[in-house]
Formats: sequence, structure tokens, C-alpha cells
Amino acid sequence: MDFYQGRVLRIDLSKGTTAVEPLNMEWAQLYVGGKGLLLRYLWDEVPPKLDPWSPDAPIILMTGPFAGTTVTTASRLVVGAKSPVTGILNDSYVGGSFAPELKFAGYDAVIIKGKAAKPTVVTIKDDVVAFVPADNYWGMMTSAVEAALRADFDANAKVLSIGPAGEKKVPWACLSTDQYHKAGRAGHGALMGDKNLKAIAVRGTGTVSVGDPKAFLELLYKIHTDYVLTDDNLWAHEEGTPVLVDVVNGGGAIPTRNWSAGQFEGADKINSEAFQKIRIKKRACFQCSISCRNFHETTFAGETVRGEGPEYETIALCGANCGIDDIGALMKFNELCDELGLDTMSSGSVTALAMDLTEKGIHDFGLHFGEAESYVQVPALVASREGIGAELALGARALAAKYGHPELAMQVKNLEIPGYDPRGSFGSAISYATSDRGGCHMRAFPPGDELAAGTMPADTMEGKVEQVIAGDSANGFIGQNFSSIKFSGIWCDFWAVTPEQIALMLAPLFGHEFSEAEVMTIGERIWNLARLFNLREGVEKDDLPKKLYASEGAFSEGPSAGKAVGEVVFRESLAKYKTLRGWDENGVPSEAKLAELGVDVRL
Ligand code: SF4
Repeated sequence: MDFYQGRVLRIDLSKGTTAVEPLNMEWAQLYVGGKGLLLRYLWDEVPPKLDPWSPDAPIILMTGPFAGTTVTTASRLVVGAKSPVTGILNDSYVGGSFAPELKFAGYDAVIIKGKAAKPTVVTIKDDVVAFVPADNYWGMMTSAVEAALRADFDANAKVLSIGPAGEKKVPWACLSTDQYHKAGRAGHGALMGDKNLKAIAVRGTGTVSVGDPKAFLELLYKIHTDYVLTDDNLWAHEEGTPVLVDVVNGGGAIPTRNWSAGQFEGADKINSEAFQKIRIKKRACFQCSISCRNFHETTFAGETVRGEGPEYETIALCGANCGIDDIGALMKFNELCDELGLDTMSSGSVTALAMDLTEKGIHDFGLHFGEAESYVQVPALVASREGIGAELALGARALAAKYGHPELAMQVKNLEIPGYDPRGSFGSAISYATSDRGGCHMRAFPPGDELAAGTMPADTMEGKVEQVIAGDSANGFIGQNFSSIKFSGIWCDFWAVTPEQIALMLAPLFGHEFSEAEVMTIGERIWNLARLFNLREGVEKDDLPKKLYASEGAFSEGPSAGKAVGEVVFRESLAKYKTLRGWDENGVPSEAKLAELGVDVRL
């Protein structure tokens, strides 16, 4: 079989058994791989309304068809489950080198169910899968468990692990691989901890077939020279995501002191220029010619801090949103989150909320905006659920509600939102509200055109709903349909690949030519499948914290002063979104739309 290995590994942690079954190629034809194929498996593997904490609830690791080949940026992994935080889909993407190693071991996907009686590590070496007691590894930081498993199992193993935060089931515990790469957001780390699964270590000695290697390499040469190594992608290599700090801050959209301002006066101390001064090397994921990763070194409290990142979201939410402009403190906070296995976006949001509650005199957490010493204590307290960490680990929505101020929690469907304030990026209001995994910027990205390229005004909803649904990188900002096929490839967010280029790469995969329209149809099919899954599981209504769109929430100063989507326009835009999608007023896709798209399941 070309590209796919055609095999799925099933792991039952309760029984300590494994099985291998054929990959469902009919589903692969419909949903490609990555996000799409993950969703199709989740539909069948998650019984409707199943408690996400049930031992029967699966965690699925899914590769893309190009993982392990030389297709640039496409060796990523998606981890999927029904989230215990949002109650809906959580598909979380991670780079590094785990996905290609899994393909080399002979698997496209791994479906993990059950719950081990004791802490366990699963090792995979080609066809040999073993359950190893994790007594020696439980409690280890993420970098330590990777190193230990390479020493104990295989020096070339790739490891996907949880840190202490996952062991304690912190809602935003994440998975870690290659030390600095995280599958974050809504609770995969907590689920893995609940299953008593500390890590999966994989070593593969096989290859991935690409059919006609000469033709495939000729295609990739053209793609590399014409579409990858171009000015459009230079920003990612030269600066990486920190380039967004000045862009978003300049537009009045950087969350500042728990979303009380859109511009941070200390931004020049934590922007791309500041990070370039402490950058010591560049790094890349497996087979990525863009190489966006920045490795930094600085000091905090007299000690050296070294590591990859932080990325923009971390800078915005753990920096500006906490009032922190000390680059060493920010690096330290990021390092602690990485080691403990905590999603930095939620960590920053909840820390900022606790600072806000303290400064408003609602409850004293001993945390203050801009105060670095107490701030860097937070990750360890949250990961251990000790001291103030026990309450912070509730997450933003529950913490704010506990103290009678739900309006201070910036979340959508119980997922803390990313670092682009809709008051300075109107399109983000609709993209956050309608995202298929709660507050997320990776399904549609209005700030790309509103703030970075400046090709669409940021302070209007004109044309935004259409773009949020169907935009693509050749024609305005990325929208949900396009991101769905892009994340099924799985091509990295940071390559500005277009539908035309995806069509070229899908042709050798499926053995026939693809049009751009067909590429977008696959994306729309996948987005509607996600909607069906979320409806079946009981998704909350699409909404946004009111202060981010209502007129009374507008800032009084800064570049976005006086600007707000407005309640009427926001509600009209949500209604328009459903109409354009072919969904009814409750957001249920029509039979005609599902049939037109070829979605093969029904509610
Ligand atoms: S662009 Fe960056 S994050 Fe994406 S695959 Fe390449 S190195 Fe990894």
C-alpha cells in the first residue's frame, strides 16, 4: 500500500492486550487522514454520550498519509478524544518526530482504550508491543521520562508522554514529545493520566512507500522550490510566531491583564526582536524545510533558562495577559509548563484570571499583574494541585464562577480562548464562537488578514462569516473548511499551502487528479462530520464572553478603542453562519447538505 501502512494498532490497557486491524480505506478515501480520519474513527469508537472519563473512552493517535515521507511539514500527529473539559471533540496537533516513527513501526493509527491497574508505559518496536510498569517513571518531568525511556528501551525511540500535571488530571494537561512539542488544549494529558498511561515509546525500522518515487520526488521538488521556499513562508523561518507580538499589539488585540486592555506597554521587551537577541539556534520538526522553531537562552533569578519557544500564544497569554514583560520570567514559566506537561495558553489565562480576582479584591491568590516571583510558582502549584493550585486547576470558567464573577473568564465552551481579542479582530468573534473544539484560533484565522496582511479591515464583520467558513490561504484568511483538509494532510499551520497545492499532493495519494473545489469539499465534509459529532455529544450553543463583542465592553483607549462587533451584528452573524453552512437554526446540518458532501453518518 502506498503512503498508508494500512494498519491500526488497538491497545486495551485494562486487559493488557493488543490487536492489529486493517485501516478502513473507505473512510480514508472520504476523510484522507489526520483530522478527518480521526473524526470518523471517533464517531464509531465513542458510544453516544459516553462519559469522557469512562475506561471505554478512546484516545486515538492518528497520522497523516504523508507522515514519514519527504512532504514538508506533513509528519505531524493528531491526538483525538472526547474532551473531559468541553464534552466535545478535542483534536490536538503536535510536530516533532513521533508520527513518522509510528509509521515506520507499521501503523497509521493507535486506538487506546481501558485503564491500566497501575502506572504503565507502552513500548512499540515494530510488531512487538509491551506493557511496562511505570513505577520508575511516574512523577517524572516530560524531558526526564523521554531520556529514561531512550536509555531503558531504545536509544532512538520517540516518546509521547504526560508530565506530573497529567498524572493529577489537571484539565489542561497536555502530551509532550521531543521535549518541546505539545499536543495541548482540552485535556488529553488528564485523560492519559486517568488511564494510568505515563508514556508511549515507539521505534520503527520500516519505511513508507510513495508509489512512483521518481514522479513523487519531482512533484515535491516543484512544491519546495515554487511554494515552500518562498517569501510567503520566510517569516516562519526568520522569526517564527513571535513576529505576531508587534502585529497584534499594534492592532490593539493582544490580551493584556486578563483582557482589560488590547495593547501592552511592555510588548517591546517580549516581542520578536527581544527574542532574536537571546536566540541561540533554529530547530525543525521531522522533514520540515521551513524550520520555524527558535531555541533561546537567557537568565531568570540568576539561573540560566534554555529551551524552544515560547510561541506567540504563550507570549500573549502568559506574558501580556499576566502583565509580565520580564523575558526571563516568561521563559521560566514556559519551561515549567513544558516540563510539567501543561498547556501554556490555559495556564496563562487562568493565572491572569487569578491575578485579576486578587487585584479586584474578590479573592487574594497572592498573584499580581507583572509580579514575576509569585507568577513563576504557578505551574508547579497547578500541576501538583497544592496551595492556590488546587483552585486554579478548576480552570477559568469554574474558578470565576466560584467567586461569583463568571464574566471575568475568557472562554468558549469551557476552553480558554487564544491571544487575539475580537475587539481588535472582529472576525475572531465568529471564529471562536463557532470553533469545533471551543475557543480556538486554529480553525479559522482572521487576524492573518485583519492584522498581519492588512488586506481586510479588522473593525468590520463585512465578509468575515464567509471567510471563517470557506477562506483559504490563496484567497484571504484561512477558514474552517480549508483548515479541516489542511489538518487532515496533516500540513503544518505555518506553511501557507493552498488548495491548488494540496490538490497536487492528493493526486498521487488517490491515483487521480483533484480540483481545488474537490479539495474544499473534503474540508467541508470533515467540518460537518465534526458538527455531527459535537451535536451528538451535546455541544453548548455557539457564543462568546459578552465583553468581547458588546458595545459596553469596548476599550476606552488604545488602537481598538471604542470598537466592538455589537450584539445585534454578532447575533446576525451567527445566524448567517448557520444559513451559509446549510444548517438549521439549531446548527443541525440538513440532510441535503450531508448528502451533497458525501458525509457517511447521520445523527
Ligand atoms: S513550520 Fe515549524 S512547527 Fe511547522 S512543521 Fe515546520 S518546524 Fe514544525
